[in-house]
Amino acid sequence: MNITFISAPAAGKGLISSMINEKYGFPHISIGDLLRSVDDEKVKKQLENGEFVDNRIIARLLSERLSKSDCKEGFILDGFPRNMSQISIYEEICEKANDKKNVIIVLDIPKEIGEMRILGRRVCLNCGNVFNEMFESKPKVSGICDHCGHKLVQRTDDNLEVYEHRYDTFLKETKPVIDYFETKGKVYHVDGSKSSDDTFREIEKIIGGYND
Ligand code: AMP
Repeated sequence: MNITFISAPAAGKGLISSMINEKYGFPHISIGDLLRSVDDEKVKKQLENGEFVDNRIIARLLSERLSKSDCKEGFILDGFPRNMSQISIYEEICEKANDKKNVIIVLDIPKEIGEMRILGRRVCLNCGNVFNEMFESKPKVSGICDHCGHKLVQRTDDNLEVYEHRYDTFLKETKPVIDYFETKGKVYHVDGSKSSDDTFREIEKIIGGYND
């Protein structure tokens, strides 16, 4: 199956995607991570300010990534589509990338929890794992990745000002995307404010309902 996560920022998409990847083997495709690897000044600025990057760049990155052989049996898409104009790219490129079922999962969290998570979030630039210095997903040694031993860093867009902007954008631009997919009956809602293990258990119930 292919799982698409659409949620407010800091809802836990990255962490839950890695947990699914570890247990089920589906590759975790984060649009944010794909964009962070692009060597382009304009894109870097947009990422820093939490602004949307041009659809053409995203469509190119996505079709390159989804055509790789590891996506044949399913994948996890994290952070796409985020506005109405991206739905056609999703339907053209992502839904047709393989013959598996496409499921959309929305992780719901209140804004205040997102704010707290943003301040503690640390990422490993080497292996992509995500930790939180303030919550249950703390690294064993503060500032060091449990998986590969590299230094953890705070993303430049993880500050309250950018979070406010990204949250507003979520309400104005991404919420209508969720409403659109609701009308097609493709959306599961999961409470993302619980511990990652609880959230993961809920998601496993959804995965268990599909056999491809
Ligand atoms: P994320 O890693 O998902 O938090 O995304 C980080 C940043 O990447 C966002 O703030 C945007 O600047 C950019 N980005 C991620 N997904 C998209 C998207 N679907 N469309 C446009 N820009 C995106």
